Amino acid sequence: MASIELQNVNKWYGNAIHAVRDISFKIEDGEFFGLLGPSGSGKTSVLRMLAGLESVTEGDILFDGVSVTDQTPQQRNIAMVFEQNALYPHMTARQNIGYPLKIRGKSKDEMDKMVGDVARMLHIDHLIDRRASQMSGGQQQRVAIARALVRRPNLLCLDEPIAHLDTLLRARLRGELKRLQRSLGTTSVIVTHDPIEAMTMTDRLAVMRDGVLQQIGSPDDIHNRPVNAFVSQFFGLHSMNLFRVDNLKESAGAFSGQLNGTHVDVPRSATGYANGLGQLLVGCRPHAVILVKEGETPPPDTFRLTGRVYVAEPLGEVTLVTIQVGDLTVQALDPRKRDYAIDEEVIVTVPQSALYAFDTGTEATIAFGSADEPLPTADLKAG
Ligand code: ADP
Ligand code: MG
Repeated sequence: MASIELQNVNKWYGNAIHAVRDISFKIEDGEFFGLLGPSGSGKTSVLRMLAGLESVTEGDILFDGVSVTDQTPQQRNIAMVFEQNALYPHMTARQNIGYPLKIRGKSKDEMDKMVGDVARMLHIDHLIDRRASQMSGGQQQRVAIARALVRRPNLLCLDEPIAHLDTLLRARLRGELKRLQRSLGTTSVIVTHDPIEAMTMTDRLAVMRDGVLQQIGSPDDIHNRPVNAFVSQFFGLHSMNLFRVDNLKESAGAFSGQLNGTHVDVPRSATGYANGLGQLLVGCRPHAVILVKEGETPPPDTFRLTGRVYVAEPLGEVTLVTIQVGDLTVQALDPRKRDYAIDEEVIVTVPQSALYAFDTGTEATIAFGSADEPLPTADLKAG
């Protein structure tokens, strides 16, 4: 186990691709840390440099305060699990898991104990004498994780380790990996493009875009206090809805603007975030949207525009409603049991307290919406 630090790390592939751009951060000893970002954002490059599998073009990597930049993966004592595991197909689970111990010259008794312990933790003890080639994908991945953990590495590197498994298995392994990491306390870094994985498993995570670090924080920080529109749209169960409004003007004390040519009512409190040209970039999470059907009175002092239902998808406790406003797509999570017809006209309303505001140019966050605003369903009276 170790603390890990990156100091101004850069990665160039040849002299055309600057895959990682001057990244610095520290991972605490025992932490479960995530690297999240879209495909091609440089996550795997960072992980492979941490592991010692890829050279660092510029900058330094420290384990427990000591530079390991020139050390091999063996010297750093890292273990790695990839999306596609590389088990020996003809070997049994026991032989595969024990292999890193065998090459380190552990005795048979020691090996049996260590392999048995980790196999039990990963619920594969009943498969211990089965060949890898005779196991399902999920079982093989458990064996690969067991093999990585058995020799107690300083750092466990996980590169999309469960991305290819089916949904149910992925959900189970997420929980198991988290429990396992907590009980072993092995410093771990997971690369994922799936916000749910990053959010559910890690203590803290770094969000990357085009090789540039966007934000580091707890899942709660990143979900509720995103630093910019990119992070807000990338993270979360459902992306932030973004509304780019222009032509903001006041008439008889009320503010309104245009969004793709559609009329928008803007609450007074939000107009303070407009730029000098009367433009505004605001957003909200889908759960903050209150949909108003024909005949209902929209709640007062809300951000408001009219659209048409593209489709409504029941998710059990809530309904995910996708609304089309010109060429803008808005998503709403409606906790009420209501039916929506395709192409039905609805008013999209957002309470002012739930609105996030972003700089219209840099898209940096300038105001956070409140995360847990209760839905004022009582205000929605049929008129
Ligand atoms: P991610 O894991 O976020 O998908 P990667 O770190 O794999 O991103 O890749 C970041 C960028 O570096 C991408 O543009 C990718 O094409 C490029 N890249 C990655 N590995 C190599 C390589 N071995 N040679 C050249 N370019 C590479
Ligand atoms: Mg990758």
